[in-house]
Parts: sequence; C-alpha cells; structure tokens
Amino acid sequence: MAQNPSFSVTKVKVAFECPRLFYLGHKFGGKLMCNSPEKTLGIGITYHGLAEKCLDAMRHEPKFSEFLEGSPEQINQEKLNQQIKNLLYELIFLPYLREIKKNYHKKVDFLLKLWQGLTSLIDDWTTLLILNRHFCSADKVIKKTFILQEYVLKYNFKLPNNQEQIVRGKLDSLIFNFSRNRLAVVDYKTYPASNAIAQFVQVALYSYMLQQTKGIPVDAQVSYIFPNLKTDFYSWEKLEETIYQSILYKLQQMQEWLTWESGDSEPPPATIHPHLCNLCPQKRKCQSFFENTEAS
Ligand code: SF4
Repeated sequence: MAQNPSFSVTKVKVAFECPRLFYLGHKFGGKLMCNSPEKTLGIGITYHGLAEKCLDAMRHEPKFSEFLEGSPEQINQEKLNQQIKNLLYELIFLPYLREIKKNYHKKVDFLLKLWQGLTSLIDDWTTLLILNRHFCSADKVIKKTFILQEYVLKYNFKLPNNQEQIVRGKLDSLIFNFSRNRLAVVDYKTYPASNAIAQFVQVALYSYMLQQTKGIPVDAQVSYIFPNLKTDFYSWEKLEETIYQSILYKLQQMQEWLTWESGDSEPPPATIHPHLCNLCPQKRKCQSFFENTEAS
C-alpha cells in the first residue's frame, strides 16, 4: 500500500483554519499563511533571529550567570531584568542597529517595536530563571532552562480508521521548568492569533511528537509578543486529551480531502471563520477553482 505524503505541522494548523486553503496549498503549492497587517510589517523573521541571538549570548557570556549569583530569594527581579536588558542591548541589539544603518534606513517605529518585543520576552525569561534558580546553581541555570538544540520532529500517527499519517515539524524553542519538572515547547508569535484553536493545535502536535520521542510529559505555551506579551499555557494532560479528541480525526479528514478531485461532489469545506478570507493568500484561486468545480 502506497504511503500517504507527510504533512507539516503548519499544514495541519492550516487545515484547522480552512480545509480549502490546506487543499490548495498541498495540491498546487503557494502561500499557506494568512496575511495579517502585523505579518506584512515583516517583523517576524528579524524578531526570531534576534531572540535566538539573545539566548545564545546568555548561554555563552559569563556575566549573565554572575547576575544570577547569590541566594535565589534575594534576587531582585526588577534589577535582574534591567541588567539582562542592558547587556543584551549592548551585545545584540546595538550591533544590529549599526549593521542595518550601514545597509538601509529602517523605520524608527519598526525598530522600537522590535526592541519592545524583545524586552517583553526578556521579562518572561527572567521570571523563569529566578524560579529555576531555586533548583539549579547560577552557573548552570541558563543552559538548563533554555535548551537550544534544534528540534526537528517526525512522528507516524495511527489514525482511527487504521491508516497512518506522518507529520513533520521544527520547534521554535524548548524550555525546562524545574518546579514542574517538565519540558515545555514554546511557540513565539509576532502577530495576534487569527484562530486561537489552530495555534493551540500547533503546540499540541509539537508537544505530543516530542513526548513520544522522549517518553516524558511535555507542556506547551504560545507567547504572543505584540501588542503586549500574552502567554497561553497548556499542560501536557490537556494537550494529550486534545490530540486524541480532535487531531487524529483531523488528520484522517485531511487524507480524505486530498482524495477529492475537480468535478466530484462535496469538495473540502470553506473556512468557518469568514474573516480569514480577507487575509487569505489564495483567495482568487479559491474562488475560481471551487466555484467552477461546484458549478460543474
Ligand atoms: S478564500 Fe476563504 S475559503 Fe477560500 S481558501 Fe481562503 S480562507 Fe479558505
């Protein structure tokens, strides 16, 4: 029996948002992600790159560990925040500003927004580092909290109809929370959720695939950076329930949608979130392709 083509985690997320967009992207290629105004600012890739460099600097520059020395009860969060922000500004953000000034003139509001987003993230990191300092020495806590190994995940799901489906994905970030004694998958979003369930599904899949690989429970969180940092946390127990309740059936549906061909009845359904159509990168293709097939 021929194996079904693998799905990326992004495609599963898109299938939750709009079955037609998933179908068009899978069959014909083209963009899959909806274009919110925040996305068109193009801040996401730059932001993720700088956040990664900040974490790398924190892991390798000994001064960050020195800020965490002393008894954890006596660490002043505000002072620690400021120390980390100042040093990251000097080591990472200032060189970035100098570099882009040489190349082209970025808008001031873009740069302010970028730094504001990074400082929100640093506040979050500091809170976790102080919590973890109760379990781990100052010289080890940063490396044990922020696990930078790149995680490429692949898992073969067994579906309710006895079919199989391989899903692949790559994690944004992985952290360890000592008080919960758990890993947590973290997904950073630089734009508001167009569909919160789809974001949830994405981290649920990452968490499940990692749990299967490592054999330990893995929590998850989605952190929305703009306009203000907002974090949605999901325990492993909640995620596991979701996988069994909805994702396995969705994977099965995705396989079924792909068997549909122009001229058949019952095409993959349109989104149930009509506001997405105004942001959809394949709106024209969708209208012509599905209108034609539905009329035929
Ligand atoms: S236009 Fe709307 S229904 Fe069509 S693919 Fe895009 S989001 Fe889905």
